[in-house]
Amino acid sequence: MKKIAVLTSGGDAPGMNACVRAVVRYAIYNGLNVYGIERGYTGLINNNIKEMNKRSVSDIIQRGGTILKTARCPQFKEDEYMQMAVDNMEAYGIEGLVVIGGDGSYRGALDLYKKFGVQTIGIPGTIDNDLAYTDYTLGFDTSVNTVVSAINNLRDTMTSHERVCIIEVMGRKCGDIALYAGICGGAEIILVPEVEFDLKTVVKKICLNQRVGKNSDIIVLAEGVCKAEELKQQLKDNGVKGSIKTTTLGYIQRGGAPSMSDRVLAARCAVRAVDLLMANMGGRVVGIKDNQIIDVDIEEALQKHSKFDKTLYDTAMILGL
Ligand code: ADP
Repeated sequence: MKKIAVLTSGGDAPGMNACVRAVVRYAIYNGLNVYGIERGYTGLINNNIKEMNKRSVSDIIQRGGTILKTARCPQFKEDEYMQMAVDNMEAYGIEGLVVIGGDGSYRGALDLYKKFGVQTIGIPGTIDNDLAYTDYTLGFDTSVNTVVSAINNLRDTMTSHERVCIIEVMGRKCGDIALYAGICGGAEIILVPEVEFDLKTVVKKICLNQRVGKNSDIIVLAEGVCKAEELKQQLKDNGVKGSIKTTTLGYIQRGGAPSMSDRVLAARCAVRAVDLLMANMGGRVVGIKDNQIIDVDIEEALQKHSKFDKTLYDTAMILGL
């Protein structure tokens, strides 16, 4: 293989840039030509393809977002558009493609591989940490640190006013951001889609905390459970007294300089991805398990179910007493 390309797709995540940089430089180090595709699969269809060199990726390791831009491209599910993408790649002589994105992006990579024989490798780029085959995804660690910092700030003011605070965090159907940020921020209550929640128990816990003199209660709520305002109303309707504030952190969780963990993960995943392409071993995705870089078949990876750490969740609930 002489020419490869890299794209970022779906929701952006801190660490995508560090990963693009690593793919480009490691590929060049190995004598390959590397192309950057803009706006994910949209750029592949629209021929937004440019050759990258070592300097194209200067000064980006510390930046969130993605210099390649990202997009959602519904047409990519149709063979007609996928054929256009394949034709564009062929015109450049591109034989291998690194896709940095989440499960949707992986489905696109799988189709390209199975239907058109393009050698594709996926790297998990999403703050949600919702890919079960890998312990961590790029951007998750940074995002959790952003949420922890917000909890710290909110704790100061909530304690001063003796309030209850509901902090709604991202993660789609995955509760990992809420779980990890919750345990790190000393949250009293963490609500995630993976654990059924009983409103009465939550109300009882808050009322007890208020009786025994806790100065504040932080509830970290994963967006996959419900909206913060809905929960607030439910708490009020079920007897929680005093002031309840809500904060929805929103897109702040998607930006910012990637953490050490995300930058290292980006470099390690990129190296494995390029190595796999050079060995013509497409149709795989890279990840990390027990601190070892792994690669698995894309289809197998997509079939894996939630890896939610219930033990860690139970620990967080005990420590938040
Ligand atoms: P993420 O990769 O973060 O999960 P999305 O689910 O939005 O984000 O998917 C990103 C892109 O991947 C979509 O806009 C589309 O171009 C492509 N994609 C998603 N699902 C499929 C599919 N079943 N077949 C082909 N391409 C897909």
